[in-house]
Amino acid sequence: MYKCLKCGKEFADMPKDQVRCPYCAYRVVLKARSEVTKKIKAR
Ligand SMILES: [Zn+2]
Repeated sequence: MYKCLKCGKEFADMPKDQVRCPYCAYRVVLKARSEVTKKIKAR
């Protein structure tokens, strides 16, 4: 999950090559952990 710093909305989908909020197009987002992260492979 990611969280926008401007509008505060959380979203799961974000292209890796384009970091921005899908709602307000703000370019600063945080990685927000909602529970336990599962099935996430960092490569
Ligand atoms: Zn936003």
